[in-house]
Amino acid sequence: MSAVQPHFTHLECTACARTYPSGAWRGLCDCGRPLAARYDLAAIRRAVPREALAGRTHTLWRWREMLPLSFERDPVTLGEGGTPLAALPDFAARLGLSALHVKDESLEPTGSFKARGLCLAVNLAQAFGARAACLPSAGNAGGALAAYAARAGMAAHVFVPADCPRAFVLEAEALGAHVTLVPGYITDAGRRMREVMEPGWFDLSTLKEPFRAEGKKTMGYELAEQGGWTLPDVILYPTGGGTGLVGMWKAFDELESLGWIPPGRRPRMVSVQMEGCAPIPRAFASGAAEATPWTDARTLAAGLRVPAAVGDRWMLEVLRQSGGTALAVPEEAMLRGTLALSRALGILAAPEGGAAWAGLLELVRRGWIARGERVVVFNTGSGHKYVEAIEAALAAGLPAAPADRVR
Ligand SMILES: *Cc1c(COP(=O)(O)O)cnc(C)c1O
Repeated sequence: MSAVQPHFTHLECTACARTYPSGAWRGLCDCGRPLAARYDLAAIRRAVPREALAGRTHTLWRWREMLPLSFERDPVTLGEGGTPLAALPDFAARLGLSALHVKDESLEPTGSFKARGLCLAVNLAQAFGARAACLPSAGNAGGALAAYAARAGMAAHVFVPADCPRAFVLEAEALGAHVTLVPGYITDAGRRMREVMEPGWFDLSTLKEPFRAEGKKTMGYELAEQGGWTLPDVILYPTGGGTGLVGMWKAFDELESLGWIPPGRRPRMVSVQMEGCAPIPRAFASGAAEATPWTDARTLAAGLRVPAAVGDRWMLEVLRQSGGTALAVPEEAMLRGTLALSRALGILAAPEGGAAWAGLLELVRRGWIARGERVVVFNTGSGHKYVEAIEAALAAGLPAAPADRVR
């Protein structure tokens, strides 16, 4: 049985355009940059009219033909994808927007959108014969790998910063993963992992294999469908390694080629990071093609404590191509935003979602987001594992961010 489906034709380097066959597992390009899965979209366009979706599952396997896994394989699934796009009409009115929606990834298995990416990566690794997989994680990726590996009957090795919030470590261990605490940041955890990695471990680090991005791109497909096959004017996305950002942009490329959305009507993509760790906003502002590593990264939004990312070039390209921007928000604004977003949604939001909310208020205040625009903010996870950040937000006695005083 083949590992991959017939329309998945090859892997292409996102930096040097070198190609590799789709039938063999491959991590990075020889040049050290991320690879992207490419499909025969013309063939998929002929084979799958948009109407074929009616009656399909609402998990991310709805997009089966646009995912790499062989059609002959029953995927390992925990019900990932198909998350709500929550409308917040009162806040939209207060901010002068014609629509404001939150794509709420808190409902994913293991409580974050990491489920989408690790679902695809574990399925493909298994199809290519993996018995064990590993990654460094700042938090949620470790739990998601642990969960999918458990279900797939695969060993999981997770390397996290020693000060990673406790709940993430316990979750991964409870799900059977081997967890190693490493002093420093996710980049140090990655370094340790590469030192101790055993032959046969599949490396599922962010953007160091092409399939987590394939899982995360389904957020772009869902946004298009949930918006009636039109996309918003602006998307705010809290960015760490950047898989979601580049994944969604890839989805929009594919959707145009499939003829499912009109060409040339893309959202402006906004990367939100923290003032305590903002390599992408810094590189964006300076016009650089690549980001330089951030020293002394600090924030309670664990998923955004990523001092250096192998996908920096790709992210910056997407931000610029889309006419978007990158901004860093203060820690206090993120904590406020977490409470405000939670109370707006009735869902305990992740601090990363709170950062995106703070970014929204700031860009509205600056006028970068204009009156009448349609905006989607990503709540990338649930707040349940972030006891420390939620405690800090409540202890600071911060009022929820006053959306009505922005304009
Ligand atoms: C990992 C993570 C992020 C950052 O996601 P990337 O796709 O790596 O940029 C944001 N929010 C949460 C909750 C995360 O777990």
